[in-house]
Amino acid sequence: EGRETRLRVVLRVRPLTCTETRRGDQRVVHSLGDGAVHVSAARHDATFGFSAVFDTGASQEAVFEGSGMRQLVELAIDGFSCTAFAFGQTGSGKTYTLMGPLAQSDTQPASPALLGLMQRSFTCLLDQSRSRGSDLALSASYLEIYNEQIRDLLSPGPPCSLPLRWSKTRGFYVENQLSVEFDSLEAIVSLLLQGSQRRRTSAHALNRHSSRSHALLTIHIRSRAVSAHPAPGEGWGGSGLSAGAGACPSKQGTLCFVDLAGSERVKETGSSGELSVEANSINRSLLALGHCISLLAKPRGKRTHIPYRDSKLTRLLARSLGGSGITLMVACISPSSRCLSETLSTLHYASRARRVTTRP
Ligand code: ADP
Ligand code: MG
Repeated sequence: EGRETRLRVVLRVRPLTCTETRRGDQRVVHSLGDGAVHVSAARHDATFGFSAVFDTGASQEAVFEGSGMRQLVELAIDGFSCTAFAFGQTGSGKTYTLMGPLAQSDTQPASPALLGLMQRSFTCLLDQSRSRGSDLALSASYLEIYNEQIRDLLSPGPPCSLPLRWSKTRGFYVENQLSVEFDSLEAIVSLLLQGSQRRRTSAHALNRHSSRSHALLTIHIRSRAVSAHPAPGEGWGGSGLSAGAGACPSKQGTLCFVDLAGSERVKETGSSGELSVEANSINRSLLALGHCISLLAKPRGKRTHIPYRDSKLTRLLARSLGGSGITLMVACISPSSRCLSETLSTLHYASRARRVTTRP
């Protein structure tokens, strides 16, 4: 607490897809063990280091356990602001890592083994909540940033744009966003599905179900003050009356999952018209994010002003990146030779992010 801590950056390499295998794409990315990954292709030969590398064979469970996600959930319960974000080009496995294949098929439910970081975190959170005698109050909000507009994915009716404000006490926050209480896995998974279906996606050359927006799902965790000596049956058991001698102070933590839109450049997606407007605003906010990360990666004494205000995305991530948050970044890449330039750009970006520190 109060000490500087680094962003934790892990890398996930997805397997070659059937299409990539069929057309004979070469694998250019190989894990060397111990968090090192090697990229070798015609004119490139480079090694990068991360807190952990999950190679093509890694299971969803291995990613959950090895990425530090479980600890992040526990820290959020302890009152910290925690963020996990997935970054990488379209089709690199961001949504798969966060949600599993369930996001892509409406018809059949995903097998439990394929559930992503989000569902696993919810399970962990609810288990903890139950073992603590349900003194945790949980609620969720789900937003997307599409063309630099913030939309509530949980509020019914046509999506309308919500204002982003700043206050001294709260920092940047979204006004009037809906926050829905939940107390079961079914409830939160159904919120996740409802919201995900309302996300703006459009098919383009790289991914049939490409996400054209940044999506932020935030779980608000309030631990109610608990009396050390509960006295059931005295008529005091109601809410709000439990704080007293020996009580724990109440805490409020958040656990935020960010599924960023693809980081590829406009020309590679074959986008035009409306799609290119989308691509440009995606690129603009990712550029702003990249810019903030490079400035934040400098030692604290040498830092200049961090331009969080350059995009909505960076404003919403200000606390996770430079403030009091604790952050896990999952960089996702394809091993295919055809994705080499985007893969290298993701690897450079992710390596830079490893130098960013926050003060939880
Ligand atoms: P993104 O969200 O980065 O655009 P997706 O998560 O939609 O990418 O993944 C693109 C495709 O690759 C999907 O068909 C997905 O099922 C598949 N995929 C991604 N990661 C894996 C993985 N680790 N194992 C198997 N299939 C994967
Ligand atoms: Mg996606």
